[in-house]
Amino acid sequence: MVGKIKKLEKISRQLEVEPEKRNNWNEAVLSHIHKFLEEYNKKTTFAISKNKGKEITHIAIPQEGRPIEELLDAVEKYVNRPHINSASGGFFGYIPGGGLYTSALADYMVAAANKFSGVYYSSPGAVHLENHLLKWLCQMVGYPEGSLGNLSSGGSIANLSAITTARDVKGVKGKDLESCVIYLTKQVHHCVQKAIRIAGMQEVVIRYIPMDAFYKMDVVAFQQQVTADESAGLRPFLVVASAGTTNVGIIDPLEQIATIAKAHDLWFHVDAAYGGFFMLSPEFKPLFKGIEQSDSIAIDPHKGLFISYGLGALLIKDVQGLYNTHHYMASYMQDTLQLTDELSPADLSPELTRHFRGMRMWLSLQLFGVAPFTAAVEEKIWLCRYFYEKIQELGFEVGPYPELSICVFRYNPPNGEAQAFNDQILELVKQDGRVFFSSTSLDGVYWIRFAVLSFRSHIEQVDLGLSILKQSVLHLLKETS
Ligand SMILES: *Cc1c(COP(=O)(O)O)cnc(C)c1O
Repeated sequence: MVGKIKKLEKISRQLEVEPEKRNNWNEAVLSHIHKFLEEYNKKTTFAISKNKGKEITHIAIPQEGRPIEELLDAVEKYVNRPHINSASGGFFGYIPGGGLYTSALADYMVAAANKFSGVYYSSPGAVHLENHLLKWLCQMVGYPEGSLGNLSSGGSIANLSAITTARDVKGVKGKDLESCVIYLTKQVHHCVQKAIRIAGMQEVVIRYIPMDAFYKMDVVAFQQQVTADESAGLRPFLVVASAGTTNVGIIDPLEQIATIAKAHDLWFHVDAAYGGFFMLSPEFKPLFKGIEQSDSIAIDPHKGLFISYGLGALLIKDVQGLYNTHHYMASYMQDTLQLTDELSPADLSPELTRHFRGMRMWLSLQLFGVAPFTAAVEEKIWLCRYFYEKIQELGFEVGPYPELSICVFRYNPPNGEAQAFNDQILELVKQDGRVFFSSTSLDGVYWIRFAVLSFRSHIEQVDLGLSILKQSVLHLLKETS
């Protein structure tokens, strides 16, 4: 038996990388990253790809390892290149994110140490670090002492945890669903409807409250609907507002919604996944007035704090409620009960084993300090205002004035159909590839969207975007005249 074990050990020991090989691999990866950041990332935001990276599947998983150079080459060609380069400062589509280098460094450290951050007993330092960040976020949004939450993989999961907690705190049971009411607007992010379904509340009554001309919730209509529902014997229990909608980046009237929610005992959840970090700015924080009166907030550090993908946060006042919905005890976890002076992520989220994701935010904030983040989010708002002005000078029609860093615009061609024309503009922009825009529709009207939120987007990238749009329009006008 020992002979067999030793034989297996000889092979399995390959999994422990010796210092020399470690250095070689490190160097190869570093040069791959350097090339990406210094060359590719500066030139390309969208790359048309015939096979869409399918070639990556031609590299079979081998019995014996392959050389790292071959693999990095494949990653560059088939993974990093095709389609959207979301780390680029020219990425103005959807909601741009980040890709801070410090975030990558933190992940490297975290993965090597592999601390089990789900449970306090296992890694008290990791849990302290994450809870410290959550308290910092709670302070930023104006939540009282004693509030906490959870660092999630993103905004969708943060919204889901908030909605399931609201369900339980308000005592909504399966048998009552058809008489319970949730209030949203049509501009709410689709992950909210998804969360309602996942939380088993498909049969609940959803009231879509009308919006004003800026796509903000009409609070008079909201008040009337709640009163009407109560009179009809229904049970209003939850309202979800947006602090920065994905479509046009507007903030719902949070203060008035809070007042109505309080008067009618509704759970008030705010989806600030996109907009939340504009609160770092003393100049723009007043836009969010009323958010501090909410019960819970979803906010995405992988958007407005520029961390790499995989970091959202739920902030909540009723921590006991969050705990009641998510905690569980199993016999094989009994040792963990020895240490209960700090709340563990495993008790406040659906996860047990998880990425120690707090390190990427902690290291980034500690190394840079908060000031550059504040300047960056303020810069984005001014860049959007700048774009909004310049795009009109190019003859484009625009949607509502941008409240944060998103606006919509479209060209009305002299001949032909506007949607097809704007679609062709986007196609030309993609073919150029240096910047990227996405589109949306509002009340059935097609718009191109400009969303600026990458820490790498500066006036140079915005000007480049404007000049590519200008060239595209001129080209199409010549073609269609
Ligand atoms: C991005 C976004 C979400 C979803 O968050 P993920 O991190 O992508 O899961 C939810 N709400 C809003 C307003 C968003 O912008």
